[in-house]
Formats: sequence, structure tokens, C-alpha cells
Amino acid sequence: MSAAPLAPWIARQLGSLLAQRGHALLLQGPSGLGQYPLALALASAWLCDASTPEGLACGQCASCHAIEVRTHADLRVLMPEVQMQALDWPLPEKAQAEIDDKKRKPSREIRVEAMRDAVEFSQRTDARGRGKVVLVYPAEQMNAITANALLKTLEEPTGQVRFVLASEAAHQLMPTIRSRCQAHTMLWPSQQEMQAWLAGEGVAPEDAAALLRAAGGRPADALAQARACLLYTSV
Ligand SMILES: [Zn+2]
Repeated sequence: MSAAPLAPWIARQLGSLLAQRGHALLLQGPSGLGQYPLALALASAWLCDASTPEGLACGQCASCHAIEVRTHADLRVLMPEVQMQALDWPLPEKAQAEIDDKKRKPSREIRVEAMRDAVEFSQRTDARGRGKVVLVYPAEQMNAITANALLKTLEEPTGQVRFVLASEAAHQLMPTIRSRCQAHTMLWPSQQEMQAWLAGEGVAPEDAAALLRAAGGRPADALAQARACLLYTSV
């Protein structure tokens, strides 16, 4: 699990989602509400060796550590390569070599090769005995071929695998993908909660309200904007 604490509204949603049983979850809502941190927190909790009584990831066991350093054998992260780079996930060796050799640029969509690899991963036995997780973000960045490869696995899940799809434009997903997932619509935090969170991230209170207004009330977008404007001061 990431060292940064979860925003309080994400933590609230995590608790209720951990009580659900389905094998495929779809976290949906507009950008900036925390789909990715929530998806990663769910994966961490499901895979944790010593989860808390509430079912949350402990943040200290070998599994939590492996997620933090991006090497967990039972977690597969499917993202556009540009997104993986931005969020510090290592690319598969072959993909990294192709990019290093300038044979191609990092992809802006989820590559079908990566999905095929994830399908194969989902059929394998888990390495650590706590099942496996496939995290897809942003799920709308699958083209039709990639989505169809995933669909088959969603329809006939094999073994101990859970899927968490995080989307900022769920209407762009194939209806058949949506119907195979339990959907969760991201909650909007209160204004007060967002301002407190932005303050904790080093945004000056006098800037927070204006940034939130400009970002349509989406806290992560407001923070990204603050960082882009260099209003961010390290805390
Ligand atoms: Zn743990």
C-alpha cells in the first residue's frame, strides 16, 4: 500500500466495498474523485497477509510491501503505458525494451498484449496463497479487442482472481463489460473535507477554494492543478 494516507472519503468507500463479494468491481465516476487510489487500496486489502479487523491492508506485511515497491507476484496492473510511467509502475521487460530502443512510443491505451498476459496470469495459481488481483485503470482505455479479451475472463473467471476496473468514463465501456461487474459510483466529498485534504497536501487555504471551483469540485484534479501551478509547497 502506498505510504500516503487515503483521503477520508476514499477510506469510507473502501470499508463498504470490502464487505462486498463479487469477483469484478467497477469504480466509476468523473475524474479526480480517486478511482485509482481506491482500486489500489482494495487490491492491497484483498492481498494483505495481516489485514486489520475491518479488512483493511496492514501496510506492513510482505504483501503490502511488495505492492509498495511494485513487485507483487499476484497483482497485475493494466494501464496505458504512459499512465504506468506516470504512476511509477514498471513496464513489462519487452515493452520497456521496445520503448528504450525507440521502436515505438509508450502507448496511450491499454495494449492487447498486456491484456492477454493478464488473462494468462488470471489462469495461473497464485504465488502467495491469497488469490490474485487484476487492476485496470482507466478501464475506458481498452479498445474493442482488448475489452473482448477481458470479457471472456470476466464471464468465466478461473481460480482465485478478482478484477477491479477503475473508470473515469464508464459510459465508454462495452455494455457487456459493465454488466459483468458490480458497479460502484464514486462518492463526492464535502467541500470542507476537500479543503482539509488539500491543506494536508500543502495547498494554501486561500488557493484551495478557487482551485476546487476551477476543477469542478474534483479534489484530485484541483491538487494536480495546484502542483502544476507550483502552488504546492512540500509539507
Ligand atoms: Zn499487509
